[in-house]
Amino acid sequence: MAPRVRFAPSPTGYLHVGGARTALFNWLYARRHGGTFVLRIEDTDVQRSSADMVTGILDGLRWLGLDWDEGPEAGGPHGPYFQSERLDRYRAAAARLVAEGHAYFCYCSPERLRDEREKAEARGEAWRYDRACLALAPERVAELEAVAAPRAVRFKVPATHTAFDDVVHGPIAFDPRSIEDFVVLRSDDHPTYHLSVVVDDVEMGITHVIRGDDHISNTPKHLLLFEALGAAPPTFAHVPLILGADKKRLSKRHGATSVTEYRRQGYLPAAMVNFLALLGWSPGDDCELMSMAELVGSFSLEGISGSSAVFNVEKLDWMNGQYLARLPAGELAAAVAPLLVAAGLSAPGDPAWFHRLLDLLRPRAKRLTDVADLARPFLVETVEYDPQAMEKHLEGSDVPGHVAALAAALGTTDPFDEPHVEATVRATAADRGVKAGVLIHAARVAVTGRTTSPGLFEVLVLLGRDRSVARLERLVDFLATPRAGTIP
Ligand code: GLU
Repeated sequence: MAPRVRFAPSPTGYLHVGGARTALFNWLYARRHGGTFVLRIEDTDVQRSSADMVTGILDGLRWLGLDWDEGPEAGGPHGPYFQSERLDRYRAAAARLVAEGHAYFCYCSPERLRDEREKAEARGEAWRYDRACLALAPERVAELEAVAAPRAVRFKVPATHTAFDDVVHGPIAFDPRSIEDFVVLRSDDHPTYHLSVVVDDVEMGITHVIRGDDHISNTPKHLLLFEALGAAPPTFAHVPLILGADKKRLSKRHGATSVTEYRRQGYLPAAMVNFLALLGWSPGDDCELMSMAELVGSFSLEGISGSSAVFNVEKLDWMNGQYLARLPAGELAAAVAPLLVAAGLSAPGDPAWFHRLLDLLRPRAKRLTDVADLARPFLVETVEYDPQAMEKHLEGSDVPGHVAALAAALGTTDPFDEPHVEATVRATAADRGVKAGVLIHAARVAVTGRTTSPGLFEVLVLLGRDRSVARLERLVDFLATPRAGTIP
């Protein structure tokens, strides 16, 4: 049977890297086995859920390339895929559980429950619901019903099950006596997470639940509900947490945790997917750079590690650099263009020249944002001189004279290609009695304004003779102009 898996985010926050990895594992499993990937929005907490968060989550998944077969916008035979539109189903399931003796009405007030809990805590004990309402006499129930007393529905936890098999962690034992009769439907007629998730997993035919470790403690309750609802439970695979470099649970303290933020910072989706896939999963060899197709081809739940994964930003940066280096020029140009616009620049009109520029810059970049930054001097009319670069490279003796001589020599360099440009620079330095480095550093400040750039000869060739000469001459003029104090 082809598997049906789901990613079930609660839209109470953005799509964080942990959620994205859970979605990815589900997606990979579905694609590997020709199954169905369902996206279900768990928005029963109306107060904390928002439409903006839903949009953000969908955008994040799309950016990563995780398309869903059923869910919001895609539709499907098991809709609606928003839990807030399925409340009648949860109410019907709760009524059925009561009718079949698996659950009962509880009229206890929140005050009573709180008092009992506090009293138990004062005695140093954990309190579990005492089944007071299970023991109510029929007359008392009739009285309460006559005044329409608020009532919740509690699941009657049977003392059966003691363990389940988790694909990642193996057998996980639990003591049913430690589980209280938990609420499945609140007195406001809203389901708790346990009820809605199980009802939906049953109705949507979910065969494998792949989700975060933080849900392990909920699974015994879910198993009891599957049984009470007469449904075979799915296979469970609980994926270990993602930790920061300090081995604490990954949080904002460690830097960006939202997928959108990584997108904004200039990471490529293919690199992000590759990186997330290897957080807690391994193909069983040392293979690190894997395309989406390769991931699909080798993904297995058995390859998920039982111990926590550490989110290593340096590795992500390295991986992103690898993907940047390999991206076809047209795709890189399309990815960088919006960042250039955001930086007040525009992509050059000549695509071939733009591609040459990108090829020159990409070995020095880890992120798209680095490419956009490195591209600035090539795309502005007038470069800005970095004060530090000026201080470092322009204060030697007669730098203006050297630069002027280079401008003149380059003006007649023909052809204006790398070997000839390099020969001109070296010959001019020799003529002027200085090391080539002096001229190279000064010329770099002239044409890029910076201390670092790709190789100077390549930069000059890419800019072309006219622009290179004009920039060198402008620096000479600039240095000849008396300046008040520091650099304007
Ligand atoms: N909505 C739950 C969450 O965001 C996921 C529930 C599940 O996967 O069972 O944590």
